[in-house]
Amino acid sequence: MKSTKAFVRPDHTAIISCPYCNCRKEIPVEKFKGNKCCLKIKCSCKEVYTLNLEFRKKVRKKANLPGKFTNHSQKNCRGDIVVKNLSLGGLEFVTMEIDNFKTGDEVTVSFKLDNAGNATIKKEVTVCSVRKQAHSVGCEFTKSSDIALDKDLGFYLMA
Ligand SMILES: [Zn+2]
Repeated sequence: MKSTKAFVRPDHTAIISCPYCNCRKEIPVEKFKGNKCCLKIKCSCKEVYTLNLEFRKKVRKKANLPGKFTNHSQKNCRGDIVVKNLSLGGLEFVTMEIDNFKTGDEVTVSFKLDNAGNATIKKEVTVCSVRKQAHSVGCEFTKSSDIALDKDLGFYLMA
């Protein structure tokens, strides 16, 4: 039996392609959330194959990327950040303006990747944790971002 793997996207779907006939389809994988999974799939071409789901959202990459924030929930105050880690689902940054952040704030962050592409990433995020002593803010990306739509960040995380 052949096997294939698929990456789970932040919106909890995965694109799978049959290793026999190469047909592609999108499947919801919500119910497998958080686990690395091996599934048997029967394709419309009648072949059966195993599918390994990879939850790349869990993969966090350490970083040290200077950038800027605008906090729309706090009178659009602005300041400097350093992004300390990144995933396709969110990021964590440190800032000296930690008092300007509360859980649930809507923030725009922008920063430059330090790889060959040097792309500027601009993201709408929602604050999900604030650790004042560490000056650290954890955020989730507000719009579910497809890897295809976020090529630069995807490449950065896969490197
Ligand atoms: Zn097939």
